Amino acid sequence: MAQTIRGTILQTPSPDSFELLSDQILTVDDEGTIESIVDGSRSEADVDVELGTEMVLLPGLIDTHIHAPQWPQLGTGLDLPLEKWLLDYTFPLESRFENLDFAEAVWSHMVPSLLREGTTTAVYYGSVHEPATVALAEACVRHGQRAFVGRVAMDHPDGTPDWYRDQGATAAVSASQRSIEAIRTLPGAPGLVEPIVTPRFIPACSDAALMGLGELAHATETRIQTHCSESDWEHGHVLDRCGHTDAHALDGFGLIADHTVLAHATHLTDDDRSLLARTGAGVAHCPLSNSYFSNAVFSTRRAIDAGVRVGLGTDIAGGPESSLLAQCQHAVTSSQMLETGVDATRSDDRGVGGSRIDAVTAFYLATGGGADLLGINAGLLARGRVFDAIAVDIGEQSRVRRWDGDEWARTFEKIVRGATAREIRHVWVGGRLVGEHSSGPVSRRG
Ligand SMILES: [Zn+2]
Repeated sequence: MAQTIRGTILQTPSPDSFELLSDQILTVDDEGTIESIVDGSRSEADVDVELGTEMVLLPGLIDTHIHAPQWPQLGTGLDLPLEKWLLDYTFPLESRFENLDFAEAVWSHMVPSLLREGTTTAVYYGSVHEPATVALAEACVRHGQRAFVGRVAMDHPDGTPDWYRDQGATAAVSASQRSIEAIRTLPGAPGLVEPIVTPRFIPACSDAALMGLGELAHATETRIQTHCSESDWEHGHVLDRCGHTDAHALDGFGLIADHTVLAHATHLTDDDRSLLARTGAGVAHCPLSNSYFSNAVFSTRRAIDAGVRVGLGTDIAGGPESSLLAQCQHAVTSSQMLETGVDATRSDDRGVGGSRIDAVTAFYLATGGGADLLGINAGLLARGRVFDAIAVDIGEQSRVRRWDGDEWARTFEKIVRGATAREIRHVWVGGRLVGEHSSGPVSRRG
C-alpha cells in the first residue's frame, strides 16, 4: 500500500557532502520505492507517518561484512591472532551450525537485533552448512531485512580442520550452487534477499575450489564476497602460495568482478587499488576488527581517491560491536590514528598525512558507499531509490538530543557518534516497517 512519511532528512549524497532536507513529504509506492519527495510546507495533504520535530529520518545502514554464525561469540575471544582465533574459537562455533535448531535460534535472535540497530541491509557469511545458510536467508525474508547470504566454501586440507570443511573442491562448488538455487527460489526473497558466492579466503580454499567458485559466480550471475589482504599472516600466505597479492590472485581465479566485496583489504598496494577501481570490486572496511586482527589501518581516503568503492562492515564477531553507527565512529578514530601515528617516541615518521576522515565520510560509507559497493538502489533517500530508512529520536529524552539553536550538521554528527538502538525508533526496509520499539507507535494523522 502506498504511504506518505513527513519529516526532516539528514544524509550524505557523496563521501564529502552532508545534506539537510527540512520538512519533506516522501511518497513510497507499493513496491517500497520512493516515488516523490516534496517540501512539506507547500503541501496540505494528510500523511500516514508524521515524524514531527522530535525525530529525523536518515537512510538505513548497510553492513557489508557480517559472519552470521559468529553472533553467539560477539564481544569475546579477541586475545589471539587471526589464524589461531579461527582454529581455537571460530571454527568450533561455526561447526555447531550443522544443528539446524541451533542455527534457527541464532538467526531469530540476530536478525531482529541488527534491524533494531538500523542495519537495513546485511551482507552475510553463513557457515559451510546448506540448511543453516538457507534458514538464514529465510529469517531475513521473515523479518524483512535486505540481505546477501553466502554459504561459506572452504576445502583446503591445510587451512581448515577436518571436522569443519567441504569434502573437496567439487563438493564445495556443488554445495554453493545448490544454496544459490535454494535462496533464489525462496518465497519472498526476490528483490530482498539474494545469494552471494563466498569462498572464505584463499588460505581456506584449494585452487580448484577458488577457480570453480569464480566460474559459478559468472555462470549464475551472482555477486562474490571474500576476505582480501587481511593481516601480515594472510597477506604473506597468499604471496608465498600464489606469487601475487590477494587482489591479483583472486582476479586470477575469476573472483574479482563488478561489486565483488573484499573484506578488510588493509594491505592493498597501489596496483591492487587500480585493479579494484578498474573492475568495480571494492572493500568492506571493518575498522574495529582491523584493530584486533589486521596489523594495519585501512586507508579509506587513499582508496576513495583511487576510485575504489568502499562500504563499512562490523565483521561480527572479529569486530566485537554490532552497531554500524558505532563502526562509523571507529572508522573516524582509526583514520585519525593513521594520520597522526601512535608512538610518541617517533618524531618525524609517526603517521600518514591526509588519512583522516570525518563523520560525514564515515556515514557515507555506511549508506551510499555500501550501496555503491553492492550495486543496490539504497543508501540515500531520493526519488527512485528504495525506502530503507531509520527514524532517530532527537527529542528531550534522547542522548542525541537536539538543543535549541543547534546547527543541523552538529545534530547529524551527534547521531552518527552517539545514536544506539534506543534512539533508533523506527526502521523501514523497502517501505515496510520492520523494527518498531515498544516505547511508542508512529504517530498517525489524517
Ligand atoms: Zn570476516
